[in-house]
Amino acid sequence: MRILVTNDDGVMAPGIRALAKACEELGDVIVMAPDTEQSASGHALTLKQPLRVQELEPNVYGVSGTPTDCVLLAVHGPLFNRVPDLIMSGINAGPNMGDDVTYSGTVSAAFEGTLLSIPSIAVSLATFDVYPYDTAAACAVRVAKALLRGGLPPKTLLNLNVPALPMGEIKGFRLTRLGHRVFRDTIVTKTDPRGRPYYWVAGTPEWDAMEKSDMSAVQEGFASVTPLNMDMTDYKLLVDMENWDF
Ligand code: MN
Repeated sequence: MRILVTNDDGVMAPGIRALAKACEELGDVIVMAPDTEQSASGHALTLKQPLRVQELEPNVYGVSGTPTDCVLLAVHGPLFNRVPDLIMSGINAGPNMGDDVTYSGTVSAAFEGTLLSIPSIAVSLATFDVYPYDTAAACAVRVAKALLRGGLPPKTLLNLNVPALPMGEIKGFRLTRLGHRVFRDTIVTKTDPRGRPYYWVAGTPEWDAMEKSDMSAVQEGFASVTPLNMDMTDYKLLVDMENWDF
């Protein structure tokens, strides 16, 4: 079994190292990840410049691109003689839940994996504080083993968010749906030293209390597992819209 480990925090991030180490019990691990932080890069592809790859140590590669570039390069590029059997993306420093998942490079790398028909899991540690990754890494391996037993339908990935708690305090795994998040004060306006305005995307997230959501699970001390489907078609509306007059 070959496992590709990638992320959006960059190849030097502590989270990816912890995930790669934990995945060694599943098989041969290759790390291929952006050489700089690419958080909130979404599902971006680099099309207007070449990709450079640097082997930093055996089986650890830094790429001058996005998380999606890394997955494509690892699967279709000439560097490896084998397609990975499993893609693990993370462990992200910070949650990837609810409405935030499409911004996430971590989740998008896993989406890319599923588009290439490879079972994929996105893993995030649900805190922005410095916190050890060992609990999230152990949870990720548990979810990977369950996925390898159960399998996934096409175009589907698993999105795992782990609370910042010691393993003994995690209450278990909870299957969840995406929550809903609203940002207050989204754009901050300031003035630069030359007197011109500049703008910064910022804001404080506020989460709706939603039953069975990823956010509520993590708040209650559970590791949240959400199956996500790449097919964003609204099938119910598709039927309802039959009577629309265009
Ligand atoms: Mn990130």
